[in-house]
Amino acid sequence: MKDHRAVPGQATRQDDKAVVFIGGSGRSGSTLIDLLLNNHPSVQSVGEVHRLNLYARENSEPCTCGSPVSTCPFWLEIEADMRGRLGWGADRHPLRETEIMLIPAEVNPALAMIQKAAMFAAPRPVGRWVNKSFAPAHQRAIEMSMLWYDAIRNVTETRVIIDSSKDARRLKALYLTAPDQFRLLNMIRDGRAVSASAIRRTGMPMARAAFEWKRSQRHTRLTSYGIPTDQRMKVHYEELCRDPEATMKKVCGFLGLEYGPEILTLRKSQAHNIGGNPMRFKTGEREITLDERWRDQLSDRELLEFDRIAGDENRRLGYGD
Ligand SMILES: [Zn+2]
Repeated sequence: MKDHRAVPGQATRQDDKAVVFIGGSGRSGSTLIDLLLNNHPSVQSVGEVHRLNLYARENSEPCTCGSPVSTCPFWLEIEADMRGRLGWGADRHPLRETEIMLIPAEVNPALAMIQKAAMFAAPRPVGRWVNKSFAPAHQRAIEMSMLWYDAIRNVTETRVIIDSSKDARRLKALYLTAPDQFRLLNMIRDGRAVSASAIRRTGMPMARAAFEWKRSQRHTRLTSYGIPTDQRMKVHYEELCRDPEATMKKVCGFLGLEYGPEILTLRKSQAHNIGGNPMRFKTGEREITLDERWRDQLSDRELLEFDRIAGDENRRLGYGD
């Protein structure tokens, strides 16, 4: 299903399968890196795939190809593969009838605290045990996700799945379930730019935008605890835009993928992502450009407000000026 001529000499090795999770806050370049990596013949990006079943049921958000998720030929072919894996007949519809999104924390507050601690910070054996014992619904959703990943790999003849769901609990639950396959790409962007984007999009006040950005940074940092350092990599959005070639060479090296210049092409062909930034719908080849509109758009008062709430976190990530 993918164009294997894009990078010559790159063989598909199903035995070397990987799940690459894109973590961090939204509007930090996750859709950009997801579309770029999808150019590689061994890679299939599926975007914010945790919403796959929701969108298939509601038809509320189309696939990147433009078709509703429930009738997209790409997803229908993968659904047919899933039917076989689940032993379901032709009258059943895995796209609509399975669930891979994590549900909110358990209702019992004490259990919820244990579950949260395990999901965020516990090392693998403890976290895995707590996840299985106290959050069986999470465990089922993650095991179902692994089945979907296998179906996607099989149909697309790829070995690397890019899941840019960003949900920090999903990040940790995937790692706990399949630690050897798991790789984390942590997308980082100046919190002022992310907050400005949230304000533009929703009109929310700076206090809330800054708080939400800071919280997502903290959650990603906490969930990364216990994941071996050679299985996670930080990618700064600004570096990716300023020097895409050098950055993507490093990312490919980290993921064990052969680099080819085709990776830098921005096009939507072959993309069947779920959810994400509206840039995924734009057609034709485009330049990778750094979006720093926040420098003109944020008032002095908003900048002060951001600094009061999230300045420390931003400086910790290297954004000082
Ligand atoms: Zn599609």
